[in-house]
Amino acid sequence: MGQVSGADLVCGIRPLIYHMIREDLIAETEIRLCRRRTCDKFFRADRIDQTCCSPECSQRVRFQKYYETKRKPTRQAKSKVGDESKGRSVGGEDVPGKAR
Ligand SMILES: [Zn+2]
Repeated sequence: MGQVSGADLVCGIRPLIYHMIREDLIAETEIRLCRRRTCDKFFRADRIDQTCCSPECSQRVRFQKYYETKRKPTRQAKSKVGDESKGRSVGGEDVPGKAR
């Protein structure tokens, strides 16, 4: 296994590609595209759950996921909360005890 006979090379690239596909099927490996957006490399997946070409890419994807889930609320949501608190504290008539 793993060797290509000379006869296959004479016939062109197609037998070589078939051979590589056959090798992948026999070895039960899969060619995948790296999940990191800026990487876009093809790699041979050794494990079923492998989604990135390298540990570095894997870590970057995990960080990206973390920041997407733990991201601070948007400016719109923040301003809404601020308006509510302002309405309560600014209205002088609502707090008579503090006046003078
Ligand atoms: Zn990658």
